[in-house]
Amino acid sequence: MVKKGRVFSGARPTGRQHLGNYLGAIKNYVTLQDDYDCVYSIVDLHALTTLEDTAHLREWTYEMALDWLAAGMDPGRGTIVFVQSHVPQVTELHTILSMVTPLGKLTRLPTFKEKVREQPDNVNYGLVGYPVLMCADITLYKANAVPVGVDQASHLEFTREIVRTFNHHFGPVLVEPQAVYTETPRVLGIDGVNKMSKSLDNHIEIASSPEEIYERVRMMVTDPQRQRRGDPGRPEVCNVFSLHQVFTPQETVQQIDSDCRTAGIGCVDCKKMFAKNLADYFAPFRERRARLAENPDEVWEVLHRGAEKAGVIASQVIDEVKGAVGLP
Ligand code: ATP
Ligand code: MG
Repeated sequence: MVKKGRVFSGARPTGRQHLGNYLGAIKNYVTLQDDYDCVYSIVDLHALTTLEDTAHLREWTYEMALDWLAAGMDPGRGTIVFVQSHVPQVTELHTILSMVTPLGKLTRLPTFKEKVREQPDNVNYGLVGYPVLMCADITLYKANAVPVGVDQASHLEFTREIVRTFNHHFGPVLVEPQAVYTETPRVLGIDGVNKMSKSLDNHIEIASSPEEIYERVRMMVTDPQRQRRGDPGRPEVCNVFSLHQVFTPQETVQQIDSDCRTAGIGCVDCKKMFAKNLADYFAPFRERRARLAENPDEVWEVLHRGAEKAGVIASQVIDEVKGAVGLP
């Protein structure tokens, strides 16, 4: 079948994948395989920008591969899954792209300022260059489409600007990618306020056991005005309710909506129902993950084969880029 183009996406191996990653990105990673050649990268170099301690990097890389493969990334259908640092051409492209990137734009990005606030003692050079390395990740594979959560929108726009600048100077070599979003591009965390994030520890890992899922769901913040069991609730401001809409059949969602408004059900019952539906939804995922984990060598082998295939594309593109720039 003729594919519509190439997809690239990556995520940092800083822990297991959570519901936000799944609903915002991984769902699209999987479905886009039908129509695109897909390249998915565990971006370990990016992880170095924030990690004080790299002891877990190998373990988290492996865990992420398990999450991705169990979710349905399928190397058997040609999908490339690999580790960023295994294809070092990306660092060459990063250096070249950094020469057409204005420093002021990088330091003005809200995501950079946020990191400076988060880790004032470790404002490293890599942190500033993060969006340039991201641009190199994507353009090294000439990807047309990039499935990401909406928190990455400004970075992707930045990539597009770098591509336009590069092509303006050196000819139409790089491809300007489009972001692809799911229907749930920004999932809130269990605090009900912030984006679900590993770094905020307000997340629910998709590989959690049903018991662990319930533990986290129990902590979810609901309608703050609903203090007592008898108070009527407002589903429209409740994150448990908004997630019910994803994991619970439509008729039941309508029932919950009216029962919540009339205080017919309390938050505890509502959460129990949600935790069960969530655990059931991910049951086949947990089984596949457990089976993959029986053979860690095979998982690493998938990543190594992925890097070989990615390396072939990367070599061609980096040669083309160097030629366009005029490097002898
Ligand atoms: P960190 O806190 O370390 O930045 P994270 O939880 O934000 O981690 P990432 O690894 O940065 O997760 O993101 C991986 C992918 O998941 C990205 O495409 C990102 O846009 C998407 N994503 C992350 N969090 C959410 C969320 N809450 N809702 C929707 N998409 C998300
Ligand atoms: Mg993030």
